[in-house]
Amino acid sequence: MWKFILLILLPMAAHGQDRIAKAIRRPDAIQCASSETELQELKRAWQNIDSLKQIQPVQFQTKSSIRFRWPVQWVNQTEGNSFFGLSNYVDHNPAFNAVRDFNCGVRTYNTSNYNHKGTDIYLWPAWWKMMADEEVNVVAAAKGRIVYRVDGNFDRQCNFNSSNWNAVYLQHSDSLITWYGHLKKNSVTAKQVGDTVSEGEYLGKVGSSGNSTGPHLHFEVYDSGILRDPYNGPCNNSQPSLWQEQHPYFNRDLIRSFCTNGEPVFPPCPQVENLKKDSVYLSGDSVYLTNYYRDLVHNDTTTLLLFSPSGNRIDSVQTVHDLSPDPFWDAGGWLWKYGPEVFVEEGAYSFHSRYRGETMKAAFLYGNPSTRSKQKSFTKIRLAQDNNGIRIIGNFDKMEVFDSQKRPLSFQMVEETSGTRIMEHWAKGLVIFRIYTGDQILHFKVLK
Ligand SMILES: [Zn+2]
Repeated sequence: MWKFILLILLPMAAHGQDRIAKAIRRPDAIQCASSETELQELKRAWQNIDSLKQIQPVQFQTKSSIRFRWPVQWVNQTEGNSFFGLSNYVDHNPAFNAVRDFNCGVRTYNTSNYNHKGTDIYLWPAWWKMMADEEVNVVAAAKGRIVYRVDGNFDRQCNFNSSNWNAVYLQHSDSLITWYGHLKKNSVTAKQVGDTVSEGEYLGKVGSSGNSTGPHLHFEVYDSGILRDPYNGPCNNSQPSLWQEQHPYFNRDLIRSFCTNGEPVFPPCPQVENLKKDSVYLSGDSVYLTNYYRDLVHNDTTTLLLFSPSGNRIDSVQTVHDLSPDPFWDAGGWLWKYGPEVFVEEGAYSFHSRYRGETMKAAFLYGNPSTRSKQKSFTKIRLAQDNNGIRIIGNFDKMEVFDSQKRPLSFQMVEETSGTRIMEHWAKGLVIFRIYTGDQILHFKVLK
C-alpha cells in the first residue's frame, strides 16, 4: 500500500503582491515523564555496571574530560538548516506548583508527582512524518558502554499512560550515565549490554514509546546516581556545561523554507502530517511559501523577497511575527499565500527569506498548461496509486528507482491512457524515484 508522497524536489522560485500571511503553530506540545519502569531500568543499569566491572573492565575517560555531542543526527540532510526543536529542559524547582529551568526560565514542566528530569528534543517541522521516514538518528553523546537496553514496545504513544519505552542507557565513566528514551520500536542498536559504542554511534531512531505525547528524544544524565542537568546557566551554575557546544537558551533559527500547494495539515496524534510541499505550479494556481522556525521569539522579523524568472524583485515584505500573548514558540511557522495574479511570467521564481542575518531560498516553477507540450520543463509529474500499483502522470524521458539504501530497484513500465503504470515487486519501505524530464531531475520519495 502506497501511503503518501513525501517530497518533490525541483528548481526553485517565487513572487507576490496579492498575499496573505498566516501563523502556523503546532497545537500540541511534546512532553514526557519517567515511569516506575524507567526508574527500575536505571537500577538494573547500575546492577549491570557492577557485574560488568568484574568481567569486563573498560578504560573510561575521566569524568571531568567528558563533553557531550548533540545526541540526534540528521540522516540525510537534503535542504534546510535543521531538523529539531527543544521543548523541555530539566525542572530544577522541587515545588509542584512552579518550575525553573537552568536559565531561571520556565521551559520545563512538572506534574503532581514528577519534575521533568531530562532534555526533550523533538523533530520539526513534521515529527510523525520524520519519524515514519526515519530521518533522525539518536546517537551516543560520548563514547561509552551499553549498560541497559530495551526495545519492542509500542512507539506511537500520544499521552502519559505508564507504558514501557524503548531506550538505551550508556555508562561513560565510573559515575556518569546517559539515557536515550522513547525510541522507535525495533530501531534500537543490535549491540548488547557490555558492548562499547563510540561518540556519535547509532543507538536508535526517534519515536514516541513510553510516557510520551509525540516523537522526541528524552536525554537524561546521571552522575553517581544523582540527576544532572547537562546545561550550565544562572540557575544551574555549580557545575560546568557537559556539552561540547552548549546551544543558546533560545536557539532561534529559520530551519526550513519551501513552497506548498496549500496550508499544512497537522492531524490529531499520531497521524502523519502533510506539509503539502510542491514546486511546480500551473496557471491559476496559488503559491504558498511556508517557513518553519525553531524558538521563534515575539516580534522577530522575516523579510521576504520574491524574484521573477527574469530576475526582477516583484515583492518585498517585512513580517513582524506577533506571537502575543506568548513570548516565544519553540515550534513555529509562517505561511504566505500569493494568488495567481502575481505570476504573469512563466518560469522559475525564487523566494528569499531573510531572518536574523541569514537568507534561505525557496524556488518553484510557474507555467501555463497550454505551453506545457512545447516546454517540457513545465511538465507536472505526479505519482498516483490504486490497488493495482503506482502510476506516473505526466511526460518524462527516463526514470530510475532506488530503495532507501540508494540501491537500484527493477521495474517495468506500461503505457496506459491514465498514465504510465509501474509493474513492481518491491518490498515495503521507502522508495525513491528519480525522474528525468528535459534538463530537470525530479525526486519523489514514497513510503510503500
Ligand atoms: Zn522528557
